[in-house]
Amino acid sequence: MKRFSTLLLSTAAAVFVVQLAGCDSSDPGAADIESAVASAPTEVSSSSRAAVDDQRLLNAANEPGQWLTVGGTYEERHYSPLKQIDGNNVGQLGLKWFADYDTNLSQQGTPLYVDGVLYVSTAWSKVYAFDARNGQQLWQYDPQTAKDIVTKVCCGIVNRGIAAYDGKIYLGTLDGYLVAIDAATGNEAWRKLTVDPDAQYSITSAPRIVKGMVLIGNSGSEFGIRGYLAAYDAKTGDERWRFYTVPGNPADGFENPQMAQAASTWGGDWWVLGGGGSVWDALTYDVKNDLVIFGTGNGTPWNQQARDPSGGDNLFVASIIAVKPDTGEYAWHYQTTPGDTWDYDAIGPVMLLDLDWQGEQRRVVVQPNKNGFMYVLDAATGKLLKADPFTEVNWASGVDLETGRPIEVPAARFKDGTTFNLAPGVQGGHGWHKNSFNPETGLLYIATQRAYYAMQADPNYMRNVGGANTGLAFAAGFNYYRDHPDAPREFVGYVVAWDPVAGKEVWRSEEHDGPTGSTLATGGGLVFSGGGNNTNEFRAYDATTGQKLWSFDTQTGMVAGPITYELDGKQYVAASVGINQAGNYYAPNYSRLLVFELNGTALLPPAEAFTPPPLDPPPLTASAEAVEHGGEVYGQYCGTCHGNNGQARGANFPNLMTSPMLNAQEAFDAVVINGIKAQNGMASFADKVSAADSADIRAFLIARANELKASLPPAPPAAARAGDVHDDVQDNDE
Ligand code: CA
Repeated sequence: MKRFSTLLLSTAAAVFVVQLAGCDSSDPGAADIESAVASAPTEVSSSSRAAVDDQRLLNAANEPGQWLTVGGTYEERHYSPLKQIDGNNVGQLGLKWFADYDTNLSQQGTPLYVDGVLYVSTAWSKVYAFDARNGQQLWQYDPQTAKDIVTKVCCGIVNRGIAAYDGKIYLGTLDGYLVAIDAATGNEAWRKLTVDPDAQYSITSAPRIVKGMVLIGNSGSEFGIRGYLAAYDAKTGDERWRFYTVPGNPADGFENPQMAQAASTWGGDWWVLGGGGSVWDALTYDVKNDLVIFGTGNGTPWNQQARDPSGGDNLFVASIIAVKPDTGEYAWHYQTTPGDTWDYDAIGPVMLLDLDWQGEQRRVVVQPNKNGFMYVLDAATGKLLKADPFTEVNWASGVDLETGRPIEVPAARFKDGTTFNLAPGVQGGHGWHKNSFNPETGLLYIATQRAYYAMQADPNYMRNVGGANTGLAFAAGFNYYRDHPDAPREFVGYVVAWDPVAGKEVWRSEEHDGPTGSTLATGGGLVFSGGGNNTNEFRAYDATTGQKLWSFDTQTGMVAGPITYELDGKQYVAASVGINQAGNYYAPNYSRLLVFELNGTALLPPAEAFTPPPLDPPPLTASAEAVEHGGEVYGQYCGTCHGNNGQARGANFPNLMTSPMLNAQEAFDAVVINGIKAQNGMASFADKVSAADSADIRAFLIARANELKASLPPAPPAAARAGDVHDDVQDNDE
């Protein structure tokens, strides 16, 4: 398998050549499957694969040995009552088998386990099927996603899951297709383009199956799209309904009364950029109330002063919405962040619970929101029952349970050129990461973040059709934290056990740098969670006390949702791992499916040594004007992936501060203009960026890299990563 580990050569040219040869995120020759146990003959009947019908979906809780949907059941509790693996024996949990993926980058897919077969989606919207007994690959599906889609992707070339139904595996692709794959053969049964290919849409979320339909939303609010959730016939792919989350141009008429109502909460001409409100992850079906419940993303641009100077609520961005599954008709909504100006997508997973609530049983929706509040809503009506901060929150002092509105801190809206050191920052108090609930402890297990981000309006903001639209000053964080060295600026992650009835934290795991991984709760009294972006561990905690009982060296970061299942009377735990180590794109990335059993003895090959590339930019020779212009163009087209101010975006994209490309304009242009790394996901920007722009972008990066280097104490490489911390949002936000 090719690994990229030889970056530290002496000349720029040599480094450049090595990078071209080695930094290959989608190497088709690398699909080697390794199993440390003797292969048993497969007994999985290919004709009956993914034999999941409506009854099985409705009764998924009665098949605890399976993992039929991304959330385990329709309630999306990521809970299994299996208890063979428990607190007494989890220390003996070991690897049964593993399979290397042929695509690296960040792995966020929750696997499915159906009747002896594991199905999992990976980066670049690929899907694998493995014989669960031995890890033998049954098939792989590659949708051949156009690599230039990357110019429309804000937050990683990722996929978070698939759906199994009626002999097929359903997948949303990064370039906006809904695909049905024959579960027996891996062949494509049909594909349907679900988005306008000329707009800035992409798909990273898992489809859900409801009443013979496949439901899928899309991403793109960082650029400018009109968000919607749509339902497609599972057999044919025909669109059955579509619910837009924001109104279109009033001159075109409104699709339904709710769009007219929503339009009254907007000012200006929002429809030019689309408005936002993407339905990019949170989605579930409440069988009891017969409602589809989902969350919506931020408005476009982020900064409401630039989006809608009238300061309206901008429905239905940053909201939780319920619609009727048969028709897509509106049922209720609750807007978590009215007039959002902080990128507070309401996209944390929505989970359905039946709680003992003030003396009666109540069906509720819970969501840990990016904005730092844990919301509890009545699932039938959307009425707000409770909202408590589950992490550091400084933009609002609370939520008024009568009106349902946040009690905002006025300064948090960063008006009149002010800067506000926001908590949670745009990284969010919680991202898309899967949460779990154990009915025996009554606790939610939440991947939690404490994060800050310096918010300042861009006084020169212009609409950027086809590029990123935040309306924020990209240099704000760099300048603010330089000028306020004592201001809080951390970005840490940890698992919180949360009592949803009391609205209180019960325990938390140790804190560490960056986001924490998704969680899985089991009847064995355990909580499984990956160590997140920057900690190469898979862990099991005691569900009651939070004590760490087990860990496994994954050799790479782990954020994806783990699952558990039973095969031949034995319980297994499985999960995807894969994020470049230490949040560094250049580090070796061991993207794999890992499967564990009690007393498992398989071993991973030894990890390769890695030294992060140094922060060693060439001297700045360009003019101040060139640097300034370069910064503007960078903010329009590069910052969404490579980070504000070019300072780093962790694992999914190269940290341009340490890029060897800074040494030679020719090399820089070969990538930016000529697109020679398009296969790796860095498409040509020739239609957006001129050669002069490219030179100025490089000048801007050299200027920033020299500034950063001068500001650091002479102690690399840990100090050289200081700039990463505030900007590592790519796994949390779309
Ligand atoms: Ca967002």
